[in-house]
Amino acid sequence: AANDAEWCYHGGELQKLGDVRLSPATHALNYGTGVFEGIRAYWNEERGTLQVLKLREHYERFEKSSRLLRIDLPLGIDEMCDITLEILKRNAPREDTYIRPLAYKAAESVGVNLKGESELSIFTVPMGNYVELSGLRCCVSSWRRTPDTAIPARAKCTGSYVNTALAVDAAHRAGYDDAIFLTQQGFVSEASAANIFLVRKGRLITPPVTADILEGITRDAVMELAERELGMPTEQRDVGRTELYAADEVFLTGTGFQIAPVIEVDDRPVGTGTIGPVAERLQEQYFKAARGELTEYADWTVAVEVA
Ligand code: PMP
Repeated sequence: AANDAEWCYHGGELQKLGDVRLSPATHALNYGTGVFEGIRAYWNEERGTLQVLKLREHYERFEKSSRLLRIDLPLGIDEMCDITLEILKRNAPREDTYIRPLAYKAAESVGVNLKGESELSIFTVPMGNYVELSGLRCCVSSWRRTPDTAIPARAKCTGSYVNTALAVDAAHRAGYDDAIFLTQQGFVSEASAANIFLVRKGRLITPPVTADILEGITRDAVMELAERELGMPTEQRDVGRTELYAADEVFLTGTGFQIAPVIEVDDRPVGTGTIGPVAERLQEQYFKAARGELTEYADWTVAVEVA
């Protein structure tokens, strides 16, 4: 949970999270007109550092998301990266930490439009495993992913997460760990807050960027790992619902989810109903790279010395 005594960035300065006050009239709170990111910093006990994973990539996506909502970011990508590192230095968590940049329409007036000023906030919260990594039981959601023609999933908008929350709520109430969305056309899109991969007959497959997905940074990282570590190029192509039932392996990828194997879809075991070898191997290498332990992937992380 967020801690009031922690440093955050808000109103153009570093301040304590507990000192930030927002009006209920704030535009984004009423209309969902915000964009955000989720970044992870992994605690490296041996070195006494936090390794911030794919920092620049996240702010590049943040900048693209903000264009959709006509949000003018007050800082450039380099400055946002620097402030993020400064917040981590001040808060000095000795544990895995999640960083949340948020930019939103801040006008305190009633009226739906994309006019008006924006605010940029950045705060951190501790985060261990967001989901169980020993095998998830998922269902295909009866809620469809918001199409690019309505609320684009490509941009990480706060309002889009109503779609996510509806699907997660229904899945949890029915006893599943997470939900898998289909597109309006009925192809597999992504999970609640993670991209999806399948292994079939030794081939790695993921839905294409046109399947109303968030273009995941972990998705890119996993495609790179699969190619370099396993010699498996990824096929990006349409995936039908029942291919999930026919798959040898299914796994989810995301900053929060990390690499989370799926062992059951719609009450049917995936493959043998246990974690598959591809997911296992990728998980192993991913965690090493994310903690800054692999020289080949040194450019994936930025180190912050924690006093
Ligand atoms: N899809 C959605 C809807 C998400 O919220 C996330 C988490 N940011 C992802 C996919 C995975 O993206 P990333 O790997 O960049 O965290």
